[in-house]
Amino acid sequence: SVQSSCVISLPLLSIRHTVYTKYFKNLIMEQLFETSCIGIGFKLRILHLFVGHNGLVAATYLQKGGLQAAVLERRHVLGGAAVSEEIFPGFRFSRCSYLLSLLRPHIYRDLELKKHGLKVYMRDPHAFTPMLEEGVRGAPPRSLTLGSDLATNQMEIGKFSQKDAKAYPEFVAHLERLADAMNPLLDAPPVDIPGFTSGSLRRRVAAAKTLMPIFRCGLKLGKNLPDFYEIVTAPIMKILTQWFDSEPLRATLATDGVIGAMTSPSNPGSGYVLLHHVMGEVEKEKGAWGYVEGGMGGVSQAIASAARSYGVDIFTEKDVSQILVGSDGDAKGVVLKDGTEIHSKVVLSNATPYITFKNLTPQSALSSEFIKAVDQIDYTSPVTKINGEKSLSNMFVNPSSGCIMFLWSCRPMVEMTIPSVLDPTLAPPGCHVVSLFTQFTPYYIEGREWTDQDREAFADTVFDWVEQYAPGFKKSVVGRDILAPPDLERIFGLTGGNIFHGSMSLDQLYLTRPLPSLADYRSPIKGLYLCGSGCHPGGGVMGSPGWNAALTVIADLKRR
Ligand SMILES: Cc1cc2nc3c(=O)[nH]c(=O)nc-3n(C[C@H](O)[C@H](O)[C@H](O)COP(=O)(O)OP(=O)(O)OC[C@H]3O[C@@H](n4cnc5c(N)ncnc54)[C@H](O)[C@@H]3O)c2cc1C
Repeated sequence: SVQSSCVISLPLLSIRHTVYTKYFKNLIMEQLFETSCIGIGFKLRILHLFVGHNGLVAATYLQKGGLQAAVLERRHVLGGAAVSEEIFPGFRFSRCSYLLSLLRPHIYRDLELKKHGLKVYMRDPHAFTPMLEEGVRGAPPRSLTLGSDLATNQMEIGKFSQKDAKAYPEFVAHLERLADAMNPLLDAPPVDIPGFTSGSLRRRVAAAKTLMPIFRCGLKLGKNLPDFYEIVTAPIMKILTQWFDSEPLRATLATDGVIGAMTSPSNPGSGYVLLHHVMGEVEKEKGAWGYVEGGMGGVSQAIASAARSYGVDIFTEKDVSQILVGSDGDAKGVVLKDGTEIHSKVVLSNATPYITFKNLTPQSALSSEFIKAVDQIDYTSPVTKINGEKSLSNMFVNPSSGCIMFLWSCRPMVEMTIPSVLDPTLAPPGCHVVSLFTQFTPYYIEGREWTDQDREAFADTVFDWVEQYAPGFKKSVVGRDILAPPDLERIFGLTGGNIFHGSMSLDQLYLTRPLPSLADYRSPIKGLYLCGSGCHPGGGVMGSPGWNAALTVIADLKRR
């Protein structure tokens, strides 16, 4: 099959004799045979199905570790949900994710992403919450602006509550301490429970090492451990109400507790969702978020450039239809939609666990119990993303380049950003791109599918509300791209439209993400791994699942 269909074939030990297909032409063949730095002694072909940013990270680290990686993406653009697309001529959009913070700093540094073109504009101030009110004693309606300067934040909060203004710096420091303690857990696979409970003494000793991140997290937390437990499990409103009185402040902060989650700030677990959104950093500023120049695809492009510099092969428009499983039950590669077979020893899937195991893996290779468990993974999602192009300049917005949040109970929650205020590469002069991240929208509307009329009607509702805060907004928008949950699923492969590859709910974190039996990136098929956001530590443009999956693969290959 190697010669006839131009596939990459990689019988593990016969690589030296068999393969020189068109895919290999760019590779230095000597490099394929050099002794690997991880002591495996030869280069394996590792395949990634579909490349979101996590697959690119995994590929890069596997390649750096001495393996030979190739990545395959179904779409014409790289990056999955971290992508920039020119939906309307002349306007570039971060079509899904739009803000960077969570990308692990060690990946950022180690892959020299700046050198590979990643440029981030700090979002400061980061939140502008206007009030829909008449204005007190003839004054204009109040608003709350939060940014990096604590003194200014205190002045802003003081408009609503002096007590809250006083408490705010300690709250920020407290949150930073809790978020910082999580770092060791993010940069390593979860504790290897099967390793403890089965296998050789050597395996058990190796598994003991996986406890270290938990110890380090515990040490960092110290006396804050109970607070950590509370915020992870509590409704975020419980925590915010302990700290603050004023509604605009609590509402502004509470949005981070429900982003991407079909939950309310009054539900247990929303505390963890908030923590997940404050544990990042940009330019060494903790908790900060930024806009990537050229849109979020700039992150994926920078990682791809780093990957290529190490020799990773990247292919777009390669639609994988099936994972090949041999008669011995091991993964053997993949089959593309056009019938091309690509053989490899190891396969990593960046697709959701549902797509990986329900759509791509032969069901006969999986137990019925396992398939049932995969069916139980929660992918519900409230998100509809609206990307719009504005013909006029920022006629209505506060000069803030941050988020403009509109919050209404029983009405859409809207996080609106205008990244072109900072990044001139996104739109022609005098024009802007606007991104509206909205909640809560269902996957089905009263049991039926979304129609184009529904999309437009929902966008109209959102725009009507924005108009109330920002008169003139509707008239200025000349085009819009509306992505309801089924659209996010169809276009980007996000099962259920879930932006995190599965809910970040308490039952789907750490040792149980996405399932107890899949928490270590390994699958029931030997040689098939998960490397996407469906795995620990979950969603967002983080790179951690890719990094952790690469560590796991390398550890397994060393062991073999
Ligand atoms: C609207 C929206 C807004 C968001 N905002 C932010 C934000 O501001 N900041 C942030 O940090 N995170 C944000 N996120 C979350 C973040 O973008 C994702 O969690 C993250 O990008 C997922 O990365 P990944 O590499 O794990 O997978 P993905 O990026 O989902 O990549 C998976 C790849 O698999 C491919 N694929 C899937 N199924 C198939 C199939 N059947 N056949 C072929 N190919 C397939 C897809 O084409 C894709 O390339 C947002 C997500 C969305 C949708």
